[in-house]
Amino acid sequence: MIVRSRSEPAPDLAERLDRLARLRSVVADNEERFRQAITADFGHRSAVETTIAEIMLVFSEIRHATKHLKTWMTPQRVATALQFLPARNRLMPQPLGVVGIIAPWNYALQLTLAPAIGAIAAGNRVIIKPSELVPHFAALLKEAVGEKFDAAEVLVTGVEDEIATGFAGLPFDHLMFTGSTRVGRLVAEAAGRNLTPVTLELGGKSPAIIDASADLDEAAERIAYGKLLNAGQTCIAPDYVLVPERSLQAFAEKVRAQMRRMFGTDPSNEDYTSIVSDRHYARLEGLVADAAQRGAKILQPAKPDEPNWKAHRKFPPTLILGATETMAVMQEEIFGPVLPVLGTRDAAEAIAFVNARDRPLALYWFGKERSARDEVLARTVSGGVTINDCLFHFTQINQPMGGVGASGTGVYHGEWGFRTFSKLKPVFYRSKFNRLADLYPPYGGKIARL
Ligand code: NAD
Repeated sequence: MIVRSRSEPAPDLAERLDRLARLRSVVADNEERFRQAITADFGHRSAVETTIAEIMLVFSEIRHATKHLKTWMTPQRVATALQFLPARNRLMPQPLGVVGIIAPWNYALQLTLAPAIGAIAAGNRVIIKPSELVPHFAALLKEAVGEKFDAAEVLVTGVEDEIATGFAGLPFDHLMFTGSTRVGRLVAEAAGRNLTPVTLELGGKSPAIIDASADLDEAAERIAYGKLLNAGQTCIAPDYVLVPERSLQAFAEKVRAQMRRMFGTDPSNEDYTSIVSDRHYARLEGLVADAAQRGAKILQPAKPDEPNWKAHRKFPPTLILGATETMAVMQEEIFGPVLPVLGTRDAAEAIAFVNARDRPLALYWFGKERSARDEVLARTVSGGVTINDCLFHFTQINQPMGGVGASGTGVYHGEWGFRTFSKLKPVFYRSKFNRLADLYPPYGGKIARL
């Protein structure tokens, strides 16, 4: 554990910019090695997806923080209420101290480093615990960070089981956890014993709602991509689709055609990412088998019995029609390329369906009719929303990323991350001219005069 002196000055702007530049070089000097390490962990990970969804995103966060850090660090003016004038109020950001980051495997680079960027920009020391499911990545990150940083600035731990459980119990000044809702509960409990504040970026079932006014071809293409990026192992992937009953079959056929167009039917397709482990592969097989056994219709763009799917640990994209609420596929987060498509009678039924479940991390709405769109926006609560596409609200650097309820608490990205990892300290500067002393005792009849 990093020991620090409480009176140590916070790193200044130059020091923080230097740390951000060093973090950038951790990635820039090892780009190809990171792509290969992540591929080794997954079995196969599309090199393009590692580039756009991990490396570019980290570069963009660093660029943005570097550009705006001076402004973020400057104490903000806050208005002073009339009765306290003359006086000044400022909100002064200060580092919290040591920030712990627990990350999942699905976007291992982005989900370790994007929180680290916010924490470093805010002047903290950072300790990162990567996932045990990405050992090649974790070893490379540890090595590359070790070359550029003193352990008292940024440290990457090992990934052994006992480190995971012990880590959440350390007395951090802030703990950032990205992962499942189940483990998020354990982490919050462990952190609570130290009164360590937590940011929890969790998962869940994110719906896509197709309105009667939607262009089905457009929606099918965008949902196919949102679902199959990283083979569906994306926290904000559309988990299931609600579509007007009369368009159900036609829409599902269109999604299937788009999946085939984008990722073909050959399991050795370089663009299509493998499932991270045999256990997760078996879990997805179990979800599909359970749905089929209970009478759901399975629709696949490629022949699933081709042996190379399993040999490459690639899961054939799968649409499930007629899924019911009791099927496992509608009860747990799917986290793979399996998409239940459910029919709804009208928009009100779609809204009620979403509201009968935990608040989702993301919600997607497709359509042209503004009033229907605004009705969904007003009557549902989710971590974020993209209208007429999937995933893109996540990539908006000025917008906060975070869930709500069972999908998480707290936010990061850009300035939101800087603020999460800072103590925003209110400071009141009294003026020698103001009349606060009028409030001091003896009170006499003063209250009556206020
Ligand atoms: P996970 O919860 O199994 O593991 C996440 C991390 O927690 C890993 O590093 C793991 O080693 C660690 N961990 C496990 N047990 C622990 C314990 N008892 N105490 C402390 N740490 C522990 O999640 P996962 O399988 O790695 O990732 C998939 C999940 O993450 C999905 O639910 C997905 O939706 C979610 N996710 C959320 C976001 C987001 O931004 N909200 C992003 C990516 C993934």
